[in-house]
Amino acid sequence: MDADVLVVGTGLAGAAAARALAEAAWRVRTLDKGRGPGGRLSTRRKQAGGFDHGAATLQASTPAFAGWLAEEVAAGRAAPWGEAYVGLPGMSALVAGLLDGLDVHWSVAVAALQFEAGQWRAVDAEGRVVGAAPAFLLAVPAPQALALLRASALSNDVVPPQMLEALAGIRYAPCWAALLEAEPSAERRLRDSGPGDVVEAIYREADKPGRSNSGHWLLHATNAWSEANLEADAGTVALRLRDAFIARTGIGPEAIRDVSAHRWRYSRPLGILDPVPLESAGLVLAGDAFGPPALTDVPPAERAWLSGRAAAGRLIAARQPKS
Ligand SMILES: Cc1cc2nc3c(=O)[nH]c(=O)nc-3n(C[C@H](O)[C@H](O)[C@H](O)COP(=O)(O)OP(=O)(O)OC[C@H]3O[C@@H](n4cnc5c(N)ncnc54)[C@H](O)[C@@H]3O)c2cc1C
Repeated sequence: MDADVLVVGTGLAGAAAARALAEAAWRVRTLDKGRGPGGRLSTRRKQAGGFDHGAATLQASTPAFAGWLAEEVAAGRAAPWGEAYVGLPGMSALVAGLLDGLDVHWSVAVAALQFEAGQWRAVDAEGRVVGAAPAFLLAVPAPQALALLRASALSNDVVPPQMLEALAGIRYAPCWAALLEAEPSAERRLRDSGPGDVVEAIYREADKPGRSNSGHWLLHATNAWSEANLEADAGTVALRLRDAFIARTGIGPEAIRDVSAHRWRYSRPLGILDPVPLESAGLVLAGDAFGPPALTDVPPAERAWLSGRAAAGRLIAARQPKS
């Protein structure tokens, strides 16, 4: 299919952008290296249900994002949970809803970009062209955007050196997540599940609306612990986080059937970057690290959504005939 725009990365930012562009009648082709929708809002499927092992909830601080979440509640893809929101039946449903009906390609890792005669091309590690379009929207975490742009032989007028420098300045906090399957009857005996040295938060999936996987628990480690153990192997981390879980919940080891760990190398950005002055040649950037300074205190997932919509708006505005 001929596309007007290529979107690489379809987490919340890329998916929100893709939806906005499709609503403006653009032909959109999306590519993502993941096996299914979500990015950092992924839901890991297991026989007994899912684990929201990325963001466990979403918070809304702007009317625009709150309005979208209200629409998602009405559509049955989200539910309020206290002052936050969760996707139904898992967090990834929110991204899946945005991509519904679009030309979406999973398990496609883009290794390099080319720009020639007004056309962007995305190339995989085998050198195959996996997408081409005159406009290009890159919606991956800033360090991955930097790696991709550096791996591409693009001229300075297409990707100005200032863009690469600015991307290099964006750091992310890592987060190790542990996915624990316990006996469904296992009850927390200790009340404290708030932050500590190792544990940032513990969630029982079945406490959220619309879940019945009562044996599924999710533990997020603190940024400091995750940073200190970032390069440890996942098996070792899983056992250490299982011990922290036991200490914090009072659920005994005999009640834990399985534990695995997932490393989020880029969980939340530690700063943000206004991409607008750096963009050119039909390339725009989106993601939770991007936005004007006014969005600094907005929760990262909300910023990802806002940045995706804003990036789509810039592409649409650039194509309008000048009067
Ligand atoms: C453990 C954890 C807890 C969090 N808690 C919260 C919270 O409470 N509140 C909150 O607001 N936010 C939270 N966040 C952050 C939130 O999840 C993110 O801000 C948001 O999901 C980012 O969306 P995104 O689209 O910018 O990036 P992503 O979701 O990372 O999407 C990027 C996509 O790009 C794809 N990709 C990357 N490189 C390539 C490539 N070369 N080729 C093809 N595809 C590629 C990836 O597969 C991915 O799907 C949390 C994140 C984590 C990990």
